[in-house]
Amino acid sequence: MSNSIIIADQDTHFFSDVCQNFDHAAQFTKHDAGLLDQIKSCNSVYRFRFPIRKGNGFEVIDAWRVEHSQHQSPTKGGIRYSEMVNEDEVMALAALMTYKCAIVNVPFGGAKGGIKINPKNYTVTELENITRRYTVELAKKNFIGPSIDVPAPDYGSGEREMSWIADTYATMNPGQLDAMGCVTGKPIALHGIAGRREATGRGVAIAARECVSVGEDMQKIGLTPGLSGKKVIVQGLGNVGYHSAKFLSEFGALIVGICEYEGAIYNADGLDVETVFLHRKTTGSILGYPGAKKEFKNPMEGLEQPCDILVPAALENQITLANIGRIQAKIIVEGANGPTSPEAEAIFYKNGGIIIPDMYANAGGVTVSYFEWLKNLSHVAFGRMNRRFEENSNLNLVNMVEGITGVALSPVQRASIIKGASELELVNSGLEDTMIRSYHEIRETLLNNPKIGNQRTAAFVGAINKIAVSYQNLGVWP
Ligand code: NAD
Repeated sequence: MSNSIIIADQDTHFFSDVCQNFDHAAQFTKHDAGLLDQIKSCNSVYRFRFPIRKGNGFEVIDAWRVEHSQHQSPTKGGIRYSEMVNEDEVMALAALMTYKCAIVNVPFGGAKGGIKINPKNYTVTELENITRRYTVELAKKNFIGPSIDVPAPDYGSGEREMSWIADTYATMNPGQLDAMGCVTGKPIALHGIAGRREATGRGVAIAARECVSVGEDMQKIGLTPGLSGKKVIVQGLGNVGYHSAKFLSEFGALIVGICEYEGAIYNADGLDVETVFLHRKTTGSILGYPGAKKEFKNPMEGLEQPCDILVPAALENQITLANIGRIQAKIIVEGANGPTSPEAEAIFYKNGGIIIPDMYANAGGVTVSYFEWLKNLSHVAFGRMNRRFEENSNLNLVNMVEGITGVALSPVQRASIIKGASELELVNSGLEDTMIRSYHEIRETLLNNPKIGNQRTAAFVGAINKIAVSYQNLGVWP
């Protein structure tokens, strides 16, 4: 890939934190130092600036796209719209995408994008101009395409932005049959897939459920097995936070705390996620929610309230040396990328806690993005070819069993057995299978070598080994 411009002008350390975790895990592998270095480095870092018209004048926008690893193609990762985004952060997030895809066996390399704006300060027309121009800049440098690099939503972006990207790319590539596979997280009406919007949060909830289902692991940290009645605090009521809270509560957990940037609310008897969400939508704040027993103007205080499970699902670097001593949760499920600093993590482990790491916990989004990309390349919705066939086969079977046994099923039983799978059901089933299998792969890695010490390192070890095999298969490394 040409056009690699590396500008290290930030004093942040997110990428070095990721590399530090990588180096720690690499000790538990047997790979050549050169290969490890190749896996760890960011292959292509593209920084660019472009002007947009704003009001009566112009504004210059800073933007990035980082392709961390092309050991598999395409590369894949979301685009962050945030005034805090910087090159270090995009590099770190791109690296996490590489490891994440390996962990959940999604055949992509890792990438990430960033646009340095606060979307709240721009009109819809301005956001559209920014997104379309960003896409054109990527296309000019061959940084986007269904077999090259496939963006997705991240903090501050969603389906609307993805549809602008798809439309811009398709316009620039007339007649390209697979053009819609250039981006995922699109609206269903524009070649998206059922279940993508909620996929990351659903995956977070499945990860938490799988973790607490292992009795011997729960015994070690003094919790009973099972999600039922477990007290959960969620930070962030955006895409990941809202859906994590929604599915965790559907799985039987009690959402006792919710933190947003304007403040936090708490009720030890549980909060109703849907009505909190509606309250915030109508009033603009979670504060003042009638079902809360306590509220905090400082949202960080919300993280420190009594609970079993904490789900940071907003931004990185939220659990640090500054607050780890006051965190009461025994399990942290990282919905956001990089929410726990390495120093805080070490203390949390010392106190006997479990962290389900971001690279695995929030991989539901990229898993379903992979399904969306497959749908775009195959040009057919999942379930379309077989749904009716399955229903007819099941109906014949049920009729035959009823005839032989003389036992008639109730209409509800009949309907549930006969039914063929819809796209949403297939997507959710594929997601659940991926999250459960990957959880146990990580756990097995840890059980096979207890010196690895924790799930994050175990997840890294598994990812490094899989990526090393890809390089070896490519013939790039012996
Ligand atoms: P989002 O923009 O939909 O939501 C983020 C929410 O966090 C917003 O509601 C925002 O108000 C809130 N927030 C901001 N600062 C906060 C603070 N200090 N305290 C509490 N809340 C705060 O973004 P998202 O897509 O939900 O992404 C959240 C995190 O999950 C990011 O780290 C992102 O990289 C990660 N992630 C997202 C996806 C995805 O599919 N969207 C996939 C994997 C990982």
